[in-house]
Amino acid sequence: MDLMEYQAKELFAKHDVPVTLGTVVTTAEEAKAAAEQIGATVVVKAQVKAGGRGKAGGVKLAKTPDEAYEHASNILGMEIKGLTVNRVLIVPAAEIVEEYYFSFLLDRANRSYLTIASVEGGVEIEEVAKTNPDAVRQIPVDATTGVDEQKAREIVADAKFPLELADQAVGTILALWKVFVEEDATLVEVNPLARLAGDKLEALDGKVSLDENADFRHPEHAEFEDKAAADPLEAKAKEKGLNYVKLDGEVGIIGNGAGLVMSTLDVVAYAGESHGGVKPANFLDIGGGASAEVMANGLDVILNDPQVKSVFVNVFGGITACDAVANGIKGALELLGDNATKPLVVRLDGNKVEEGRAILDELNHPLVTQVDTMDGAADKAAELANA
Ligand code: GDP
Ligand code: MN
Repeated sequence: MDLMEYQAKELFAKHDVPVTLGTVVTTAEEAKAAAEQIGATVVVKAQVKAGGRGKAGGVKLAKTPDEAYEHASNILGMEIKGLTVNRVLIVPAAEIVEEYYFSFLLDRANRSYLTIASVEGGVEIEEVAKTNPDAVRQIPVDATTGVDEQKAREIVADAKFPLELADQAVGTILALWKVFVEEDATLVEVNPLARLAGDKLEALDGKVSLDENADFRHPEHAEFEDKAAADPLEAKAKEKGLNYVKLDGEVGIIGNGAGLVMSTLDVVAYAGESHGGVKPANFLDIGGGASAEVMANGLDVILNDPQVKSVFVNVFGGITACDAVANGIKGALELLGDNATKPLVVRLDGNKVEEGRAILDELNHPLVTQVDTMDGAADKAAELANA
């Protein structure tokens, strides 16, 4: 899960990374009031989970509360990299002398962690990495020993942080390492890590990605979830414990087993090429135990996707045999009643396939078509979606 700047800064503050929290608001009036409260020049900052906000016009200095009002009304509702700005952060403006770049990240390829640091930070960091890659230092961090004071000093020397800031930089790096480890992050990035007037270091921006596999250790992270920004269908699916990802097409997909569902997406995309270019509408793996309830929940989510025109249920019976799945579909259609409105193409194979098919034959539901092969069923589903 990616955090917004103001959330990242809350975690920074918790672990003693030097930071100014500011106030998060959702209206221009509140922005003005927050600026009045601060009583000095402020920065109005779009809160979206995307970088490059400054370049997109989403970070503006405001000398007066009226200017803060003005900027906030322009920034709120703005789109940055396809994301709508619903919130702005109002912080006292800092007097920046230099901008540095610093991050810790998970280096999957090397099964380790990596530090990236540069004294040429700021909004042009990508450009610096291209034109002057030596200025962007990459320093591996051994996952078993981590970052101690000695390692932090090595990083500070390698990146050539100014000598007079070395002790502060070491302290900040150790604090950021605590954020990385104790919050179970896969990315902690500060750009700019700014040298302010008076030679004070401060994190003026923050990007944190949390490892969702460690959510069980962090019930407090639940508050970071942006329910409004999440896709409503994905939110509903998550509530019901379904393994669902919304995609952009017209053919709803339900299958058992992640591998089977992935290949179902492929065959539907392929079949769609001969049916007006229809595509899979989602990924949904109902897993091993496809009870009527799970099937009903899955169908309910998919049928509520206004883009969906047909549904392909692709099941290979294993421990959960095809007859149980067929009964699941039957039960789901009963549970959904009139809410089931779109054609279902069902392909059953594997354990107890004959019994399963017989149950659906007997049901003889007007919305259900059985096709014996995966390719044939994909073709039928694509055809119906294009009808
Ligand atoms: P990003 O563009 O999404 O990375 O947003 P940042 O928070 O990094 O802000 C972009 C740029 O705005 C920074 O690199 C700074 O140059 C500038 N900026 C941000 N905060 C301040 C501030 O408090 N004072 C000043 N003078 N500039 C700021
Ligand atoms: Mn930044």
